[in-house]
Amino acid sequence: MKKNKVPAIILEKGKPFQKEYNKILKAIKRYDRIAIFRHIMPDFDALGTQFGLAQWIKDNFPDKDVKILGDNHVTFTPRLFPATDVVNESWFKQPFLTIVVDVGNAKRFADPRWKKAKYKVVLDHHPQEETNGKVNIVDTSMAAASELVCNMIYNFKGNYVMSKQAASYFYIALVGDSGRFMYSSTTTHTFQIAEQLLKSDIEISKIYQTMYEKKIDDLKVTAYILNHFDVSPHGVAYYVLTLDTQKQLNITTERGKENVNLFANIDGINAWCSITEDNKEPCFRISIRSKEKPINEVARMFEGGGHAQASGAKINSLDELPKFINELDKLFY
Ligand code: AMP
Repeated sequence: MKKNKVPAIILEKGKPFQKEYNKILKAIKRYDRIAIFRHIMPDFDALGTQFGLAQWIKDNFPDKDVKILGDNHVTFTPRLFPATDVVNESWFKQPFLTIVVDVGNAKRFADPRWKKAKYKVVLDHHPQEETNGKVNIVDTSMAAASELVCNMIYNFKGNYVMSKQAASYFYIALVGDSGRFMYSSTTTHTFQIAEQLLKSDIEISKIYQTMYEKKIDDLKVTAYILNHFDVSPHGVAYYVLTLDTQKQLNITTERGKENVNLFANIDGINAWCSITEDNKEPCFRISIRSKEKPINEVARMFEGGGHAQASGAKINSLDELPKFINELDKLFY
């Protein structure tokens, strides 16, 4: 990758972080062992950024021992991403570098062993209240964590390759968290990064097909949701999938939120949520999406957080659901 080919928008956006980027590149060069972490219950962006960065390091520093940590996804693995690494405790006893992507809140890091690293880097685009790395780069103006990580890579000083495989992972992440470039978080910089990734000869139609592929049985889940959703007085649409319903529909808890965007682009619906009973903890996990108004403050009131238009939260039982819906509804009075 030649420096002079990097578009000005990417160079400009990277300017404030140049010092940190240099430190990170030095750390990547210094450590033989590198472990890459992200958040629990990973989505396209968490996995795409994690696998993209791991692939980029392996392509450019083939002697490094790079590990990808955290739980696998119930349908993305192995459809879109290989399984994560199963790493023995002894590996973490030697000095290693931790890079955490797409999450700043340590409670949500998918593997506690990030802490054991000699040097820690956190790269995130969520609003954050804590710093867990020696180097922390947080930029909430980025539509996806992959947009931020790609900005870093394209700003690294030196000639590095962005392979088709690395670019494909980063592109999945970018498409995932920008809602296929539809969310208001999408900027000229987002498109510039997409353009750079396309230069690595990625096959976008194949990528979209694999990302959004559904099975015939999934249509039954959609039919159930369309027959059972509710809408609050000021346009908050929501559906509930209890464990009994999940069993009846033959879906796992993680898949509950997959239909949430059925309610996007509907006149009169301002925000929409999936409420899915958890199979591990006694609680209901909520995915919230919004057309315009930020919903992350309400998410924070219910043990969650996230972005202005896409957040996650949690309630302990359905008794709390009216209160939660009412708080969201109030945003649209
Ligand atoms: P989800 O609905 O799970 O796809 O999450 C939407 C966005 O909110 C993602 O960027 C998540 O990382 C973020 N998010 C979800 N749950 C939480 C939480 N409990 N705390 C902070 N951020 C969250």
